[in-house]
Amino acid sequence: MQTYVAKFGGSSLADAEQFKKVAAIVKAKPARRYVVASAPGKRSSDDIKVTDLLYACYNAAVAGEDFMPVLDQIKERFDEIIRDCGINFDLDTELAVIAAHLYEGPEKDYMASRGEYLNSRILAAYLGFDFLDPAECVLFNDDGHLDAETTNDNLSRALRDRPYTVIPGFYGARADGTIQTFSRGGSDVTGSLVARAVHADLYENWTDVSGMMSADPRIVDQPRIIEAITYRELRELSYMGASVMHEAAVFPVRKAGIMMNIRNTNSPEDPGTLIASELPRVPRKHKVTGIAGMKGFTSILVEDSSMNDQVGYGMRLLGIFARHNIPFEHLPTGIDTMSVVVRTALFDPCRNLIMDEIRDEIGPELLFVEDHLAMIAVVGQGMAYSKGTAARIMKALSDARINIRMIDQGSSEINIIICVDEEDYENAIRSIYNEIEFTL
Ligand code: ASP
Repeated sequence: MQTYVAKFGGSSLADAEQFKKVAAIVKAKPARRYVVASAPGKRSSDDIKVTDLLYACYNAAVAGEDFMPVLDQIKERFDEIIRDCGINFDLDTELAVIAAHLYEGPEKDYMASRGEYLNSRILAAYLGFDFLDPAECVLFNDDGHLDAETTNDNLSRALRDRPYTVIPGFYGARADGTIQTFSRGGSDVTGSLVARAVHADLYENWTDVSGMMSADPRIVDQPRIIEAITYRELRELSYMGASVMHEAAVFPVRKAGIMMNIRNTNSPEDPGTLIASELPRVPRKHKVTGIAGMKGFTSILVEDSSMNDQVGYGMRLLGIFARHNIPFEHLPTGIDTMSVVVRTALFDPCRNLIMDEIRDEIGPELLFVEDHLAMIAVVGQGMAYSKGTAARIMKALSDARINIRMIDQGSSEINIIICVDEEDYENAIRSIYNEIEFTL
């Protein structure tokens, strides 16, 4: 029998109605044996996530204020689910434990984790599944980093004899038992760890959109949903700001060669987006998989007539940025020129120092800084096997009278990076999207 890990996000489990949808999805496919749950999220745009209510409880307790009104709000959220789904669950006893913790000396991560803990206990009771507390398996080192290998061994062992289990997302514990959470949205990471541990055939990530969009919907009207994407493409797009899930969630499943599928709990008939290490090298319908980008870049250009002959020139230049802990994003080079593209927000605090050091240590003939640049990544495995994509992109930009400031294409040929002035950013994305979507 196949094994799927199905992770449901906060909006998928926000209330009783959503719980019913989740149960129908899980029961529709016997392979959905391991379910990873988030805490109840927002029911509408002006609602508050249970995780945020829990943080509010913690803050009130630490400030010596009355946390009971907020705890009551949390109680109401879970009560509605338990009542409307007819679940047999003793919420009062659980909340008494949490209240006692708040009186005795609250811990922030413990409090934050209770949303996932309670939601998963309730969901397990509703589905008739086992419950596994990740505090027993997901291990963080004393330095706060996840111990991925021990976690994998622990989860494999714990789940071996539990064929149908709900596991709370978002948290684990240190060796001394102290609860620790991942960063926000971290249930995605738990789902990925579980998928790796049980050698899942598929890791389903159920959310409230029908997959990853091929461009930012705030810029492009109703962009196409990406049907299939490789992990490499996904990495390029998410690095450039396209977000579908927690960044760290990709690594465990990618390493284990497990496919992911982003699905919509509110529209389960939609196929969503499939993410895999390799997709068939048949010509793809869309040569460009997606476009992403962001503003806020600075380029530092150096020019030296003898740069090309000087061994180590680039290393010395980059060494200055490294000393200040500034990562470079792109590095377009000419024969005697080199541009270091960095994020302005990181560069700004040490801008003057870095400029002085470049002048003192390298002394280039020309040193020129430019701010307010935007980067656009046009990503697509299909571009590597086809001709003319770059030409079409450039033509689209030229037709829109947009000045291209820089172009960078890695030799992997799956990503073309285009730099434009920030003021041209949205227009450039729309022009490229229209060109590749409707003419390629
Ligand atoms: N509940 C946590 C959050 O709101 C974790 C998650 O949902 O993945 O960030």
